[in-house]
Amino acid sequence: MLSNPATKPAQKAHAGFQAAYLALLESGELEQRVRIARRHLQDCDLCARYCRVDRIRTVQGAVCRIGERAVVYSYGPHHGEEDVLEATLIAAHQGLRLPLVYNTGGFDSPEALALLDGVIDIYMPDMKYGDSAIAHRYSHVRNYWEVNQAAVREMHRQVGDLQLDKNGLAYRGLWVRHLVLPNGLAGTGKVLEFIAREISTGTYLNLMDQYYPCYRAGGIPELSRPVSAAEYQEALAVALRLGLTRQSGA
Ligand code: SF4
Repeated sequence: MLSNPATKPAQKAHAGFQAAYLALLESGELEQRVRIARRHLQDCDLCARYCRVDRIRTVQGAVCRIGERAVVYSYGPHHGEEDVLEATLIAAHQGLRLPLVYNTGGFDSPEALALLDGVIDIYMPDMKYGDSAIAHRYSHVRNYWEVNQAAVREMHRQVGDLQLDKNGLAYRGLWVRHLVLPNGLAGTGKVLEFIAREISTGTYLNLMDQYYPCYRAGGIPELSRPVSAAEYQEALAVALRLGLTRQSGA
């Protein structure tokens, strides 16, 4: 097993590394992408919910309830490719040279991923469910599994397997996260099989065991307990049987 690679901004990326967005900055394409992203924002298709609302004018009808501007938490912009692009453009002009990490629920539309092609260095998608009916029941999204598989395939096509420098710092590639749920509800076996057979056995995987029933989950019997040690060990064993040996958290 590899140790957990760091993705927190390093002061200096490793020698020879050039962040993906710099080529687009030099060619002028990054600026063009900002303009295109703004048009997408006015008829929003930036995730697979396809709300088709004009987020510049209103958040009414936007499932994410996010308007023109990204919501900023403690670090970095969150949720919204248009802001990611605009922020990258501004920061790159001012000297940003570090790799960009895109942390996502894995429900990205092809339109959003096309805008991010050549901009993002590290994709960190969730693969939450291996079954769309279960995803719909608990997370109220349609076609999660189909959208999620297509999104992860595209991310891998763009950046490949996760690459680390000699200090164990990640600088490019795909890093998949999967939260094991009680009673097999995350479809862990199916998700892992997809990753191993259709993405790559070199995929860097974070198999998580920290599910805890919060908020209304306590009222759903099958989700009302944490994951057992046996369930998590079984998930790890399946990953290893499939050849997925690049894991953190194991
Ligand atoms: S949820 Fe938000 S990002 Fe997704 S399509 Fe709707 S408005 Fe756009």
